[in-house]
Amino acid sequence: MRVLILCATLLSVTSEIGAQTLPYARSVVETLSSDEFKGRGYVHDGDKLAADFIKKEFERFGLQPIGGDYYQEFELPINTFPTEVNLSVNGNPLIPGKEFVVTPGSGPLKGSFETISITADDMLSDDRFLKKVREAFAKLVVVQPYDKSDYAKEEQDRLNMIEMFLKYHDDNPILGSIFLSEEPLKWNGSQQQYKRASVEVFADSIDTPINEVELTINPEFIESYKTQNVIGYLEGDNTDSLIVIMAHYDHFGMMGNAIFPGANDNASGTAMMLSLARYFSENKPPYSMVFMAFGGEELGLLGSKYFIQNPTIDLKKIKFMMNFDLAGTGDEGIQVVNGSVYRNEFDRLSELNSENDLLPQVKIRGAACNSDHCFFSEMGIPGFYIYTLGGIRAYHDVYDRYETLPFTEFEDYFKLMTEFIDQL
Ligand SMILES: [Zn+2]
Repeated sequence: MRVLILCATLLSVTSEIGAQTLPYARSVVETLSSDEFKGRGYVHDGDKLAADFIKKEFERFGLQPIGGDYYQEFELPINTFPTEVNLSVNGNPLIPGKEFVVTPGSGPLKGSFETISITADDMLSDDRFLKKVREAFAKLVVVQPYDKSDYAKEEQDRLNMIEMFLKYHDDNPILGSIFLSEEPLKWNGSQQQYKRASVEVFADSIDTPINEVELTINPEFIESYKTQNVIGYLEGDNTDSLIVIMAHYDHFGMMGNAIFPGANDNASGTAMMLSLARYFSENKPPYSMVFMAFGGEELGLLGSKYFIQNPTIDLKKIKFMMNFDLAGTGDEGIQVVNGSVYRNEFDRLSELNSENDLLPQVKIRGAACNSDHCFFSEMGIPGFYIYTLGGIRAYHDVYDRYETLPFTEFEDYFKLMTEFIDQL
């Protein structure tokens, strides 16, 4: 009788966790992408607050640290914008993040400046370009919007070269550059700081011509910023092989007062990883599992690279790894990177999806070095990188927010992953 009651209790706990997955995942994304977490980057301790949150969840689920510490620390160089960045055009202040962004590697600049306008056609003619650069001495160059696809390959190469010259060349005689864009603005991170100041402006938000510009950019370059991966271990029935679940938790942080929340990229994948840790801590997995929350992904897969170079587990024991990055939509199903490389596992995943009538589509893709699985894959460690398809398009911008993330297929996606892992 007691065994029966125990079983019944366990069953209800198990199904409860299944049913509560979406609310849990939502709360994780809401927390990690809230203002308090500062965009999980390299200003105001954003990365550390996020790592601490993940560590506490690992502890709560009974995951064990490896080698006595959940953290694996590493260092990276980063150009940051911890204080206000301001840009006014013709006396009108622009909204940071939405109407303008600072080029991630920008140097400092403060004051009021005259500008000189330059077009793609100017940039393609030696004479005209040189004349413009001479006129631009101690001014800001405003590059008018143009569509690169309108130009031939050699012209595109030349335009790219001149853009680089304007943004990054220390010896050019201009003070800085303003690139007008007809596309909504995206941001990024830079591991260098250049001498020249540079910004990108959403063309719709200003009146042309630009007569006067007021600018404040006060970047702070940090040579060795200490950040961390967060890693937890969960024992399974078989301890000789490991299943690795990974997701990067970092994002771009803040540009002055503008926060890049990174709800889909990648609070959502972190939520998938934590949801799986939560589930398997109640339902003993077939193999031991290692959960890895990587830092520094957005800057070039730096956390996972550091881990592969300094592994804290025996990499040969990894039976299968799964990387979750962009897990918050799913209106058009999921894309499985490495699907054609590990065809048997892909077919199994696809079958499970049809049998259980879960996602609208499980789409196959070949190898791609586009997220944290990359260095694992390069070592021949089998595994998938999965991302959701369809839904919102916000990506690397201030619009990638919890409030607009649909979580369309999260529950079914989660169910498919637990079934798949159970059958590995
Ligand atoms: Zn990402």
